[in-house]
Amino acid sequence: LEALMIKLAPPVQQRERASGVKKTYDGPAVEAAIEAGELVNYYQPKVRVDTGALAGVETLVRWQHPEDGIIYPDQFIGVAEKHGLINALTQKVLEQAFAQARLWQQSGYELKVAVNVSMDNLASLDFQDVVVRLAAKSAIPPNKIVLEITESQLMGDVRVSLEILTRLRLKRFHLSIDDFGTGHSSLAQLRDIPFDELKIDQGFVHRAWESETLRVIYDTSLALAKQLNMETVAEGVEDRGDWELLRQTGCDLAQGNFIAKPMPADRLSHWMKEWQT
Ligand code: C2E
Ligand code: CA
Ligand code: CA
Ligand code: CA
Repeated sequence: LEALMIKLAPPVQQRERASGVKKTYDGPAVEAAIEAGELVNYYQPKVRVDTGALAGVETLVRWQHPEDGIIYPDQFIGVAEKHGLINALTQKVLEQAFAQARLWQQSGYELKVAVNVSMDNLASLDFQDVVVRLAAKSAIPPNKIVLEITESQLMGDVRVSLEILTRLRLKRFHLSIDDFGTGHSSLAQLRDIPFDELKIDQGFVHRAWESETLRVIYDTSLALAKQLNMETVAEGVEDRGDWELLRQTGCDLAQGNFIAKPMPADRLSHWMKEWQT
């Protein structure tokens, strides 16, 4: 495994973004992109820390802009939320993710596929019907689907959202609390919502091995998740020190550039073959 890591881990690079001013995109532009099929799903592996086995993938959407190239989600998810387009966007991402998961399933990979869900998706009970219908259409069992919800979005009055999450959990979909440590979800909330997985935010993972402050937050998050019987995922694993810390502390799963960057499905399929051998 160690040798494989060295072989496969890409050098950690700063993300190449267009230099200069960041272009802004408006609602109609994002709407047109969704309709034109310009949203592309990238996928990043989640691997088991103890065995190195591939456990699943997280779907990370990109906008393949015909002129501007690859646009990252921080430049259009907020726009989609603000302009009432997030349901259409999430539906596209789910459809593409499930269709891809089906292909991987048919090639013999037992993968869980995770999709990021916005709180705005959880405003109406229709959402669960959409998820159920799309999963059935691609014949992906609910327990192979993970819905990731960021912790900071779980604050405040979220009764309807909690209702939808609980219903999805009852149908055996898996729920993940994302960016843990950056919001202030109460212990009561964590107890009430049936999360299966807790993702420690990358800000408390990378370099936690050399920073006492980060290490306290990392350890506390891990302990809390274990107490609540949740699987733990460390995100932003960027170097060997990060990886060693996860091994020493018994974190269940790892995700980050040290293992693999997010990539399009065809490239990830190649990566999977290499990783297995
Ligand atoms: P996230 O869910 O916390 O996703 C992890 C982010 O960390 C991704 O950024 C990923 O590319 C990046 N990352 C992965 N490994 C490393 C690493 O080792 N080091 C560092 N520094 N970063 C790493 P990305 O793809 O730009 O996505 C940003 C955020 O956009 C995501 O954060 C998620 O909240 C949101 N997002 C992405 N796709 C979707 C989507 O389909 N729907 C919604 N609603 N939100 C999405
Ligand atoms: Ca996520
Ligand atoms: Ca995250
Ligand atoms: Ca994030």
